Amino acid sequence: MNTELAERLHAVLARIRDAERRFQRPPGSVRLLAVGKTRPAAAIAALAAAGQRCFGENYLQEALTKMAELAALDLEWHFIGPIQANKTRAIAESFSWAHSVDRLKIAERLSAQRPARPPPLNICLQINISRESSKHGLDPAELPAVARAVSALPRLRLRGLMAIPAPSTDLAAQREPFARLRALQERLIAEGLLLDTLSMGMTDDLEAAVAEGSTLARIGTALFGPRA
Ligand SMILES: *Cc1c(COP(=O)(O)O)cnc(C)c1O
Repeated sequence: MNTELAERLHAVLARIRDAERRFQRPPGSVRLLAVGKTRPAAAIAALAAAGQRCFGENYLQEALTKMAELAALDLEWHFIGPIQANKTRAIAESFSWAHSVDRLKIAERLSAQRPARPPPLNICLQINISRESSKHGLDPAELPAVARAVSALPRLRLRGLMAIPAPSTDLAAQREPFARLRALQERLIAEGLLLDTLSMGMTDDLEAAVAEGSTLARIGTALFGPRA
């Protein structure tokens, strides 16, 4: 087993536990999604051997290659990269979750292409929460109608929202967009949608995300080291 990766995993899990305590979140309420983009299958296998089960990938071809190599392990795969229409079939067939759905048309394709046997594909709608920072993500004004339409699709299960805010180094400034994402989620819940997931927080803004209600933190660099 790769002890350096196991130590990094335990350090990240400790960071999550500390943030839960500091911000009065119930212990265990924030799950870790290990983001393995650009990392070899062996590094993912090492984290799996140390107990990590949920992995996120951004690039479809790279992901499918690694998933085939690691098929003997019981891992849960989350697609977190931009989704073009020509990728929906492979995502619907191979992943448990897609976090980066930002158009109804993409959701409709994922539902139509999800095979009958696995459970429905878990979905987070990606919101463009800091408008200047990204061309990806739904405009918050479009969210209520899209969320209602997605929640009605038969082979999807809408779980919540995801965002990648503009980078900032100040905790208060980092919390602000996450608080807005949580408010959007709470409005949908008040309208009757059963949502339980806020996919927010990366290596540099994990504590701010936990403070504002993250339930699924997507961490790459703190686990695997800097990307090349
Ligand atoms: C790369 C990536 C992450 C992880 O970022 P780190 O800063 O390396 O922790 C999380 N979410 C998405 C969508 C990513 O592309």
